[in-house]
Amino acid sequence: MKRFVDEWYKKLILSTETKPSIQPDPVPDIAKLIEALFCLSDEEWGEYLFSREIAGGRIKENLKKTMIQKAILCGKEYVRKIKMEYGNISPSVLADKMQIQVTFRHEELNDNFFIFSQFIPPKCIVIFPIYIERAKPFLEMLKKQKTWGNFSIKNILLAHELFHFIEERDKNFIFTRTEKMELWTIGPFKGISPIFCLGEIAAMIFAKELCGLLIPANIIDVILTYGCNPYKSLQICKKMLRFHKSYSC
Ligand SMILES: [Zn+2]
Repeated sequence: MKRFVDEWYKKLILSTETKPSIQPDPVPDIAKLIEALFCLSDEEWGEYLFSREIAGGRIKENLKKTMIQKAILCGKEYVRKIKMEYGNISPSVLADKMQIQVTFRHEELNDNFFIFSQFIPPKCIVIFPIYIERAKPFLEMLKKQKTWGNFSIKNILLAHELFHFIEERDKNFIFTRTEKMELWTIGPFKGISPIFCLGEIAAMIFAKELCGLLIPANIIDVILTYGCNPYKSLQICKKMLRFHKSYSC
């Protein structure tokens, strides 16, 4: 399988659905729901991302929880290593130091699919600022309602993709790549598959810690999707909240 299209964002490839003629305005709902998303723990975000893994249901619950924990630790550990080597560093300076070519593509890929960013081996990261621009008014509106801290969506996307670069560089020993799942066995033969969501879990923790975010990095999915399709954004938000065990905060 080609790894170069970021798997996590590939799953965010959202088809533009035909809207019913009358739709309620999703803004009041979604602003309230996004606030609730702040309460999800790292483990709950891990569960959400794991739920999107193809064939992830084959993995037993206990093992899944252990994998999520290890992926979270992996993301944190790599931020610690980066800070030891470079000090407190922004994702764009880190990209420079790692000699990554960061490209901004100002067009959409096509009318039906949204990809916000991607890592292309060996050393290229592509960001699509058009989606950040589209989501700007919505983000400004949200920021008036809650303390979100200072952050840049571009930096979050970049940090996320930098983790995928690190994964590729360290693929022979990094947890998110060495961990595999068994899909089938026939006699002595086994079908083994990588578990892509582990890289996504670690990448989001890496982005959150590297950027010093007060918000969960996964929230940017909802925000960027909103700029393209508010109804889809509301759906994603509700799906994320299903992983919040005590949705009452
Ligand atoms: Zn990713």
